[in-house]
Order: sequence, then structure tokens, then C-alpha cells
Amino acid sequence: MNTKPLNYKDGKKEIQAIPKKGEAMGTCATLNRKYICCNVQVLKSVHNCPFECSYCFLQNYLNDGATKSIDDIGTLIEEVKEKISREPRRLFRIGTWELGDSLALEGSTGQAAGLVKEFAGLGNAVLELKTKSDCVDSILNLNHRGRTVISWSMNTEYIIKTEEHRTASLEDRLQAMHKTANAGYLIGLHFDPMIFYAGWGKDYEKLVNQVFEAVLPDRVAWISIGSLRFNPEMKKKIENNYPDNRLTCAEMVLGDDAKMRYVKPLRANMYRSLYNSLRRHISKDNLIYLCMERRDVWDKVFGYHPDSIEHLDSLFAQSLYKRFGLINEP
Ligand code: SF4
Repeated sequence: MNTKPLNYKDGKKEIQAIPKKGEAMGTCATLNRKYICCNVQVLKSVHNCPFECSYCFLQNYLNDGATKSIDDIGTLIEEVKEKISREPRRLFRIGTWELGDSLALEGSTGQAAGLVKEFAGLGNAVLELKTKSDCVDSILNLNHRGRTVISWSMNTEYIIKTEEHRTASLEDRLQAMHKTANAGYLIGLHFDPMIFYAGWGKDYEKLVNQVFEAVLPDRVAWISIGSLRFNPEMKKKIENNYPDNRLTCAEMVLGDDAKMRYVKPLRANMYRSLYNSLRRHISKDNLIYLCMERRDVWDKVFGYHPDSIEHLDSLFAQSLYKRFGLINEP
């Protein structure tokens, strides 16, 4: 038997079905009280990803390159049920994208379809499947009962081509989004990571226009905006794995969460520009948030900030109730 560990890229080529070992559900690894975080819970049901985004934090995180997918959905759901039953008054948002892409492996595993069916029967949880793929066919005809949000990580055509290798093209993502919204799912939009380059302003504006040609704003459950960030030690790995990347030459500063980011005025400028483009399409009711940002940056972009992580969490529940009638069911 070959016991040599797979390297980061080789591990993306083969998928192993594995049983659940230990706890799979927990707090998002990036939660940090110095920033406003959205308090999503994560279900680690996939480990590694067939795609190759040059900025992907997995290249710094996974030391066993193999791509793994948990195949016993029943045990995953038992853990979810046990944990959400401890706080019956809270509406949990639970995402499966912490260590990979929620739908990229769907053609081989069928895991996402299994989870959608299970979440349809849960009273106080919403599943978020987040992807850069167009692999939606297995979920289109399911009775999801509005308990799953299908989200896309969106970026400009230029960034998809230069930094998000092997992911679905922008056009394919938009077509998949259109089909999914027509199947009655709510859609999540994550403009993250925004990446600075010559022409970013016009390109992100065009991206927003293209998105709202594919999906109506009143089918969008939530929208996040974030910018490029990574641990300092990742710089070398990015340069080794993706020598043609254009990420690591930008001016960046170290934050309290030990991640490098663009300087604050640039981040605020990029977010404001995207927010202004979004506001031409969406109403005040659409929930928009910044991912892993400081209170003063929220103020600069939106003119307010949530009081706490828990406050932002409650804004999600209020918005889902007010806009879509989604309630906790006993
Ligand atoms: S889609 Fe996500 S998990 Fe997959 S390579 Fe890109 S950033 Fe990493």
C-alpha cells in the first residue's frame, strides 16, 4: 500500500468516502470577537476541494491532501439535531463549506442532496450550501421546504480566470443560480474575496448587474462582502503553488486575527463601491453584511454596525422571518 502523504494538489484528484469521526458541527474557525462575524455554524462534511483558488486557505490548513466526503449522512444529522435542540429558540444557519466546496463533489457523492432532504425536516435550522460550481442538478427537484439556501461565491470574470482555477465560469455559475432560484430555493451571494487590480471598480459593478439579470433580488436571502485575507505564512505557499498569482504583491497589513488584509481605506473604498452597485438593485430589506470586518469599517460602508456577533445573528433570523416567513418550528 502506498502510504506516502498526498501533496496539496495531488490530494484534489481523488475522493475518499469516510465515516464521521468525532464532532463535525461547530463554530466557524474564523470567528474573532475583535471583528463582527456572522455566527454561522459549520458542518465539516467535506475535507479539501477539487478546485484550485490561488488564495484558498486550505493550502495552509490541510496537512493530509486527500479529498474526503463523509458518507453517513444519518450520523451527521444526529449531531445537528442534538446540538440545535439545546437552543430551540435560536435559528441556526449551518454551512458545509468550511473545509471545501458544498457542491463541487456532488456528482460523485450525492451528499448535498441528502442533507437538503434532512434539513427540510428540521425545525430551527437553515442549511447553507456554498459553491463556485454549477453542480445543482441533483438538488433541483427536492422538497427542500425553504430550509436550504444555495449560495455562490461570486467574483469578476477576470479573477475567476486568473485566480479561481478549475471552478465554474461566471456564465455557468449564473445559469446554475437562475435554475436554482427557479426551483424555489433562496439564494445567497458572497462577493468574497474582493481582489484589488486595475479595473476592479468597473468589473465588480458589471458583475453585480450580471448577477441580478440571473436572479431577482427578492429571492436573495443574504449578501456578504469581504476582501482578500490570509495568514502571513500562506504567502510562500501561494507563491509556490501558484507562481502566476497576482495576489501577494499588494500592500497589506496584519490584523488582530493574525491575517493580512488590504489597508483599511482601500477595503472601505472597495466595499462602498460594491455596496453602491448593489443598492441600485436591492431594497433596504435585503440583508447585507461584511465578513470578518471591524466595526469602524461597517460604519464607513453602511453608516452603522451591529452591536455584537449575536446581534448580527439575530438580524439574520429577523430578516428570514420578515421577508420569507421562515420561523422556528417545534
Ligand atoms: S472553492 Fe473554496 S475550498 Fe475550493 S479551492 Fe476555492 S477557496 Fe478553496
